[in-house]
Amino acid sequence: MKESIHTKDLYQSMGIEPDVYEFGEAILKNLTKRFQSIDETAEYNQLKVIKAMQEARVSEACLLGTTGYGYNDLGRDTLEQVYAKLFHCEDALVRPQITCGTHALALALMSNLRPGDELLSPVGKPYDTLEEVIGIRPSKGSLAEYGITYRQVDLLEDGSFDYEGIRQALSDKTRLVTIQRSKGYQTRKTLSVERIGELISFIKNIKPDIICMVDNCYGEFVQRTEPTDVGADMVVGSLIKNPGGGLAPIGGYIAGKKECVENAAFRLTSPGLGKEVGASLGVTASFYQGLFLAPTVTASALKSAVFAANIYEKLGFFVAPDSTEERFDIIQAITFGKKEGVIAFCKGIQAGAPVDGFVTPEPWDMPGYDSPVIMAAGAFVSGSSIELSADGPIKPPYNVYFQGGLTWQHGKFGILKTLQEMKKCGLIRL
Ligand SMILES: *Cc1c(COP(=O)(O)O)cnc(C)c1O
Repeated sequence: MKESIHTKDLYQSMGIEPDVYEFGEAILKNLTKRFQSIDETAEYNQLKVIKAMQEARVSEACLLGTTGYGYNDLGRDTLEQVYAKLFHCEDALVRPQITCGTHALALALMSNLRPGDELLSPVGKPYDTLEEVIGIRPSKGSLAEYGITYRQVDLLEDGSFDYEGIRQALSDKTRLVTIQRSKGYQTRKTLSVERIGELISFIKNIKPDIICMVDNCYGEFVQRTEPTDVGADMVVGSLIKNPGGGLAPIGGYIAGKKECVENAAFRLTSPGLGKEVGASLGVTASFYQGLFLAPTVTASALKSAVFAANIYEKLGFFVAPDSTEERFDIIQAITFGKKEGVIAFCKGIQAGAPVDGFVTPEPWDMPGYDSPVIMAAGAFVSGSSIELSADGPIKPPYNVYFQGGLTWQHGKFGILKTLQEMKKCGLIRL
């Protein structure tokens, strides 16, 4: 018998029952405008990337790597110009030697702060891993150990900036302000580039020479502008998130004022050497090609997040952002209220993966967490969270955090798989 060429039938052969499929289709009908707007942003950002690459005169020779010291690495140096042009700033450091987002942020902080300086976060508690970098949780090699103090001003109850508190926290010692764009795994809202701009203006009005750094993780290409367009002196991020486009196998970036980037380069390699060394080995081509794909990959992740929000809100779960809210990062939180929901959701995401799709994720006691955590990731790049992935701590309110999807079609399949799993466990009725 001839095989059916109907999408629905292929879904069914991959475990998605017709009612689950139809439920998804009904939700999708109302998302046409939303998706169109996401595509328009992607088009704008795609052009931005091409323009930066053309202006930096990227050539075939740039795609080759170097070994050893890596002097005169054309591909590396040109890519850093591409990033500088893309972020409309003076310089950038984009390296495989920056091992992850936390490393990039630590590097930016440690290289631009000196003993006696104070660091201020005016947007509340930073990302978990930064607590040890700063020394909020005592840790070897933290900023605190080097005599760099830290202050934090929390957001107000309604999520707005505590301008009065920030004014009072700024002192002669305050050298650097760190602003986290994405909410990460907190309950506050993600900051739009516009709001970041307002905050930076306020701070610079009081103290013009302060360095404003933005943790840009998960935010790149979600909007048409980036924090450096609204006054940030430095943006910092990970290449296994949005700007790596799923192809970069490792890496981080720091883009901004020449002096800030230079400080970071001297810290990453060595005083005196700075940007001149650091072989790019074989990863340059994937850095370029990943950046080229990043706007549409980010759009796919956004569509997947919007789809998930609409599905689970319809089923009565609390979702953040909600089904209609404008998006400023790619993370979607869903509150299941019981652990079975978190586990079923993660099993569904895993079952939709192209790699390790046959594996069943289980909660485990991960080091550094105060409760078991379940994670779903069938990724080409280990730990890459621009790829379809989900995780949730097994504790009230039983939230799951979902992000990524290199293609929208994969995101859709993964979410339908979660629905199927939830249905199988009797947690939802369609
Ligand atoms: C992911 C992330 C980091 C840390 O990045 P890693 O690559 O996991 O070290 C820091 N800040 C935010 C907001 C993030 O999302």
